Amino acid sequence: MKAPSFSYARPGSLSGVFELLERHGDRARVLAGGQSLLASLNLRLSAPELLVDIACVPGLTGITVAGDKVRIGALTTHRQIERSPEVARHLPLLAQAVRNVACAAIRNVGTFGGSIALADPAAEYPACAVALDATFVLAGRAAERRVRAREFFRGLYETALRPGELLIAGEFPVSGDGYRSVFLELARRRGDYAMVGIAAHARTAGGRISDARLAFLAVSGTPVLAVRAAAALEGRPPDARTVAAAQAALGDELEAPADLYASRATKLHLARVLLGRALGALAR
Ligand SMILES: Cc1cc2nc3c(=O)[nH]c(=O)nc-3n(C[C@H](O)[C@H](O)[C@H](O)COP(=O)(O)OP(=O)(O)OC[C@H]3O[C@@H](n4cnc5c(N)ncnc54)[C@H](O)[C@@H]3O)c2cc1C
Repeated sequence: MKAPSFSYARPGSLSGVFELLERHGDRARVLAGGQSLLASLNLRLSAPELLVDIACVPGLTGITVAGDKVRIGALTTHRQIERSPEVARHLPLLAQAVRNVACAAIRNVGTFGGSIALADPAAEYPACAVALDATFVLAGRAAERRVRAREFFRGLYETALRPGELLIAGEFPVSGDGYRSVFLELARRRGDYAMVGIAAHARTAGGRISDARLAFLAVSGTPVLAVRAAAALEGRPPDARTVAAAQAALGDELEAPADLYASRATKLHLARVLLGRALGALAR
């Protein structure tokens, strides 16, 4: 199928973007890498009258480290994240996760901001952002504001972005001393969206786990922070008994509704398997 006809604009400034979004309201859509949006147009799942391409807006690309934060601009591609020494050094969770995003051709074009704004429940970055307690910078015509990742993802493909707003960047705290990260997912084929995944970040100093953030993907409409499982780990060595207690706690907090690929029981089982593997890797 082909996309329905639409108009196209490529403003060269943020104010130009905001002006078009205000004038055209919900008849306009922001276009970044187009890797999700153009597919949805071709499948006739969406029919905007105007695409506002943000590729020429200055200041939206790049990865910078300032103080204890890593800032990733919305137009930074998956490939740039994959190849970034700053991400490898300061955000090892994201460095592991990006290798699971689609295939190289899509990673060359798709963007960080597009993935966050789309908020696919099976996407890798949203779960990493929740586990790392990232903050998103959002801007509208009148003002800029910051929203924590934990409050940004509101429901299935639903975020805190307001009409006319743009995601400008993500700000991630650098990984502290004594912290380790593990990203794991299960997909039917390499590069497919995950059936279940985990973004795990914890302090592992002295052979004990503390401050664990375990964010699961593809188990609900949004990333899910497993707080009960994390509580079962607090201050304990990751031995078999602790791991079993954390795995048991998942049953109370992961909804894991059945989807095209697996029943609820299978998804919960896979989540427990991934948690066990992640804790094993954190302990090594
Ligand atoms: C075959 C295939 C497999 C894929 N597999 C995966 C996968 O395993 N994991 C994964 O995470 N992704 C996967 N993707 C999606 C891919 O990562 C996309 O690049 C990404 O989801 C969207 O980024 P984009 O820049 O292409 O955004 P676009 O497609 O241009 O936009 C996506 C949505 O976000 C909005 N948007 C974009 N940028 C902004 C912004 N700065 N502010 C506000 N709104 C904005 C758009 O209006 C649109 O609604 C896959 C895609 C395909 C086609």
